[in-house]
Amino acid sequence: QKFVYDFTEGNKDLKDLLGGKGANLAEMTNLGLPVPPGFTITTEACKVYLDSGEEPPALRDEVSAHLDALERKMGKRLGQADDPLLVSVRSGAKFSMPGMMDTVLNIGLSDESVHGLAAQSGDERFAWDSYRRLIQMFGDTVLGMDGEVFSEALDQAKSLKGASSDIELDAADMQMLAEKFKHLVLKETGRDFPQDPREQMDLAVKAVFDSWNGDRAKLYRRQERIPQDLGTAVNVCSMVFGNLGPDSGTGVAFTRDPATGQQGVYGDYLQNAQGEDVVAGIRNTVQLAELEQLDKPSYDQLMQIMETLETHYRDLCDIEFTIERGKLWMLQTRVGKRTAAAAFRIATQLVDQGLIDEAEALQRVNGNQLAQLMFPRFDSDGGVRDADEIGWGIAASPGAAVGKAVFDSYTAIKWSRSGEKVILIRRETNPDDLDGMLAAEGILTSRGGKTSHAAVVARGMGKTCVCGAEELEVDTKRRCLKTPGGKVIEEGDVVSIDGSTGRVYAGEVPVVPSPVVEYFEGRMHAGADDADELVKAVHRIMAYADRVRRLRVRANADNAEDAARARRFGAQGIGLCRTEHMFLGERRSLVERLILADTEEEREEALEGLLPLQEGDFIELFESMDGLPVTVRLLDPPLHEFLPDITELSVRVALAESRKDANENDLRLLQAVHRLHEQNPMLGLRGVRLGLVVPGLFTMQVRAIAEAAAERKSAGGDPRAEIMIPLVGTVQELEIVREEAEAVIAEVEERHSVELNLTLGTMIELPRAALTAYQIAECADFFSFGTNDLTQTVWAFSRDDVEASFFTAYLEKGIFGVSPFETIDKDGVGELVRHAVEKGRATRPDLKLGVCGEHGGDPESVHFFHEVGLDYVSCSPFRIPVARLEAGRAAA
Ligand code: ADP
Ligand code: MG
Ligand code: MG
Repeated sequence: QKFVYDFTEGNKDLKDLLGGKGANLAEMTNLGLPVPPGFTITTEACKVYLDSGEEPPALRDEVSAHLDALERKMGKRLGQADDPLLVSVRSGAKFSMPGMMDTVLNIGLSDESVHGLAAQSGDERFAWDSYRRLIQMFGDTVLGMDGEVFSEALDQAKSLKGASSDIELDAADMQMLAEKFKHLVLKETGRDFPQDPREQMDLAVKAVFDSWNGDRAKLYRRQERIPQDLGTAVNVCSMVFGNLGPDSGTGVAFTRDPATGQQGVYGDYLQNAQGEDVVAGIRNTVQLAELEQLDKPSYDQLMQIMETLETHYRDLCDIEFTIERGKLWMLQTRVGKRTAAAAFRIATQLVDQGLIDEAEALQRVNGNQLAQLMFPRFDSDGGVRDADEIGWGIAASPGAAVGKAVFDSYTAIKWSRSGEKVILIRRETNPDDLDGMLAAEGILTSRGGKTSHAAVVARGMGKTCVCGAEELEVDTKRRCLKTPGGKVIEEGDVVSIDGSTGRVYAGEVPVVPSPVVEYFEGRMHAGADDADELVKAVHRIMAYADRVRRLRVRANADNAEDAARARRFGAQGIGLCRTEHMFLGERRSLVERLILADTEEEREEALEGLLPLQEGDFIELFESMDGLPVTVRLLDPPLHEFLPDITELSVRVALAESRKDANENDLRLLQAVHRLHEQNPMLGLRGVRLGLVVPGLFTMQVRAIAEAAAERKSAGGDPRAEIMIPLVGTVQELEIVREEAEAVIAEVEERHSVELNLTLGTMIELPRAALTAYQIAECADFFSFGTNDLTQTVWAFSRDDVEASFFTAYLEKGIFGVSPFETIDKDGVGELVRHAVEKGRATRPDLKLGVCGEHGGDPESVHFFHEVGLDYVSCSPFRIPVARLEAGRAAA
């Protein structure tokens, strides 16, 4: 096994072995770009070291051989006293990770070789500056010292000199600092700064390996679902110096604007500086475009290299470079991060440039980015620019929210009931804040990260949330928010929070609808000449996705208005129409009568009251989805949801009794409520069980559907109703309901002399249903996976309870990377889906299969549903574009 690769031996496809940085350094080397020579120690070596605690025995010799070769190429030896070869030791895993050790520059300098470097370069200051940087970085990252002690010493040296920037320190100052730093190393670690260059290098390599298992890195990987056993590579790269005077410098650049995708010159440059200086903000950088004046040949060469890289990687790249006395060196490149808007624009730009095809363009964007673009946002022209920003935190749940500041949930609820918009501001939230969070437009906390209670619950609710705005002080006693600048936001003052950027503003920032939503709504046209560039790009990408996807996309919609919007957003039918909403409001008393009915007549009367109301609802719905399938689910929730609250009713009856005027009806109602009260309603009398226990309920609903369909038919429409039975656990339940339903349908058909082609199927949302799918399919025309309930029943999680209670802890401990209610749990719940698909189709090859849980609009889950062979996904109207896009990406 080979543990070390020269930069000339690797390429960009070896990221697993060489890490991202190493693979791309090799790629640039082989493209003939000016990369300082060096070699990469593989992730395999790291894995051996992490597994056994020892470096692989062969590694030392291999490193020596590669170092020898490097020294021959460079014509000097590592740390050679009169002319030292210096190297950087740079970590580079497959994915870049916070918490990993980064980089030590200038390895090879010592008390002796610093003089050699000074003589060779003719620059004393440069040599001592490089040496003090080495000791500083080495102490900080390899020896685990607190970096503060060095920066304090540096600040001291500057103030002693009355200097405002490191550039004003001269050779003697730098020498003094190097001595001081060495002294600090001894004092803090009890050992001398190592003078042997090879020892410096070996220690740095080991430190990189060890940093793989740092706490922060481990946690990050668990949360991002990066495997823990990948290991990191280490790059040893010969040094080039941007700190050799004004004709030297260092910079970063993008091949196009990562915010908009626009082509142009984007980047920053800093003269006479090394490494991280340019991003560390120690001095003011200049815009990359100014390099043209400073050093035209290097600038021209850089522009050419950027073009080479873009054409080669066929994507936006970001770049680190250094100029050493007029000679340009490339130190890093990778396919760069970008905003959601830029992702869409760049993908279509690259298609136009002929660099990628449409299938590839689809892979360059994703549904999460599209979802981000669909949130309303603060008006960036004027609105945000003039806004009074008072702080920022973590962008935990997207959206733009404006409201009056409130500091407790009680006030949030009270004010929102009286029609105020409020932002709930807390230090952190806990389960007691749930109702307050629901009542608020948005939530702001000063503590906690992306997995904090506030963040997790807000995302679940789809509420805007900024969390961990640490510099803002939340004073719950005095009910105010204090900014570091001394500004105070009192209860009732208006604040605006941006859950997409994490920014917090005092006052009202104007909100504008997303142009992408305007486009989907049909209020903005992609074809117009002056159409927004982003809208044009989204339009084209959606067209590609629709062309290639196999999954159809339906909507979860209960009324004509939602259905119409869903259709505008591209829905190909309704996958879930819940009928429970149709039983609320004034109709509730009819339901009460149904439940309380003692005699057949009373029941009939109640059902007859409900029938025309239901029918009317369905007619509207079928009309708005004319020609497309509409899956209607028969009544699902536990009956007591339609009855008065048990406590309130008990109190009312008790009071009445004490006044001796209890009314008969209330007494009966109370009895019924008691009778129907359940400890675990979720696992109680609901779904098909209800249909089997309450005579006439399901047949009334079926009749309403059939009558509505017949009515639409005779009006010349094309209704395509599908009747869905919820919560089936065994085929016998379905058989009974089916028989009754078929009789009703036949009767309606005969009376109207029409053929309705109604189909009858079931939700698969209980483990038993999934396991016995081969039986259930005998009796079902379709399955629709109810993955919300299936997740609840497979995990024995009550969604309403667990998300607010222990999910935070589970996410923090990395037990899940993401809630199983957000992304389908492929290994558990998904396995049942897969089983039911196979068994169901084995029984009935033409079985239609879909999913109607919230997972139908989740990107990762959509890919899973594509893979297991469903026919469609169904999701809320706003997620339809996301599902279309992801279905396209899954198929492309
Ligand atoms: P990170 O992953 O944090 O970007 P890098 O390994 O890229 O860490 O290095 C940190 C900084 O040091 C970067 O600015 C990089 O360009 C610079 N650097 C790394 N190696 C060398 C080298 N051999 N010569 C000069 N500068 C270097
Ligand atoms: Mg870098
Ligand atoms: Mg359900």
